This record gives sequence, structure tokens and C-alpha cells, in this order.
Amino acid sequence: MLVEDLIEQTLILVKPDGVKRGLVGEIIKRLETTGLKLVALKMIKPSKALAEKHYPKDRKEFIEGMGKKTLENYQEVGLDPIKMLGTDNPHKIGLMIREWLIEYLTSDPVVAMVWQGPLAVSLVRKVAGNTLPFKAECGSIRGDLAFDSSALANTQKRAIKNLVHASGSKEEATYEIPLWFSKEEIVSYQRIEELVML
Ligand code: GDP
Ligand code: MG
Repeated sequence: MLVEDLIEQTLILVKPDGVKRGLVGEIIKRLETTGLKLVALKMIKPSKALAEKHYPKDRKEFIEGMGKKTLENYQEVGLDPIKMLGTDNPHKIGLMIREWLIEYLTSDPVVAMVWQGPLAVSLVRKVAGNTLPFKAECGSIRGDLAFDSSALANTQKRAIKNLVHASGSKEEATYEIPLWFSKEEIVSYQRIEELVML
């Protein structure tokens, strides 16, 4: 197997709450110190079309996954989804959250980045932490810097403000990166760690 085959790229967005809370530098620092390589970066206010593509309606496992996370969280905290959201159908809840997510992502600027390195997708997910800040480990971005919850966000009919988006799998990264960056915007250079480990 070639070393190149082990190198992944992953998309990270500092979402509008991260930008407005002045946490862009802190988030980049946490990613940068892992040794992963920053290969693309821009600040943009996403269009509705971009946000809709980024959170695709037809990716069933993503939509239902969000619905299921809400249902699980409601069960844990003893809330009735039908009373709170009018349904306990994970697909319907997922579609509702997707609308809130699109509103959130297009509300203010985001900082979009591509990070590269071995196991970049999983490594960045670990640094980002669990979707729900109360479940995110201390030491992770969401665990250290956020406290929003599913119940709080759903009650206010908005997405959970958890500071970052990070591609959830290699397939997701391959789909997402070209939505945000052209080939020419992704650069190539060497980091010192490569001399030691690659
Ligand atoms: P992620 O990959 O960890 O960001 O999580 P998902 O892909 O499952 O969800 C995408 C985003 O939707 C999350 O980062 C949250 O901002 C938001 N979200 C996920 N689950 C819920 C939920 O139960 N309620 C609300 N209001 N927002 C949610
Ligand atoms: Mg996701």
C-alpha cells in the first residue's frame, strides 16, 4: 500500500456561532497542533443553494440520523417528541432540522477549510467532539466550548449551535469538499511532520 493512499482530506466549517464568538483562531489552533495540514481556507456567507447541497435532502441516513439523535436525546431527558415537535417520525424530524440548519448556515459568514493527513476524517471528528456538546469529551472543541442541546435548540426551532461542521466519513468529505473549493483553491506544500513520519 502506498502512503498516498492513507492520506485523507476532510472539510471543516467554523459555523456562524464560532465566527461570531471569536473562536476561529482557537478552532484552527486545535486542528493545527494535531499535525494535520491546512490545504484550503476561505471565509464566505454561503448561499441558500450551497447550504442545500451541503445538507442534501435525499441523503436518507443523514436526515434520519438527525431525527434519531433527537429522539434518543428526548428519551434521555424525558421529553415527548410529539408534544415538542408534532411528530415522532425520525425522517420528518430530520427534514425539520435540515431547514433550521440551512437557515443557520446562511445567516452569517462561515470559515471553510480543508485539512489533510492520515486518518484526517476521524481525527478531525475526534477534535470536534460529539454532535451534542454534553456528550462531547472534555478536550474537544464542542466539549470545551459549547453547551447547546437538542431540546433547547428544537424548542427555539433552530439548529444546535455546536461551532463546527466536520465531514462524517471519507465519502461525505469527497462529496462536500468540491462544493466549497475548486481544485485550484486546494494547495500543496510540505509540513515538517511529514519529514518525521511520512
Ligand atoms: P454532526 O456531523 O456532528 O455535525 O451531526 P449531524 O450530521 O447529525 O447533524 C448536522 C447538524 O445538525 C449538527 O451539527 C447540529 O448543528 C444539527 N443537529 C443535529 N441534530 C440536531 C437536533 O436533534 N436538533 C437540532 N435542533 N439540531 C440538530
Ligand atoms: Mg454530519
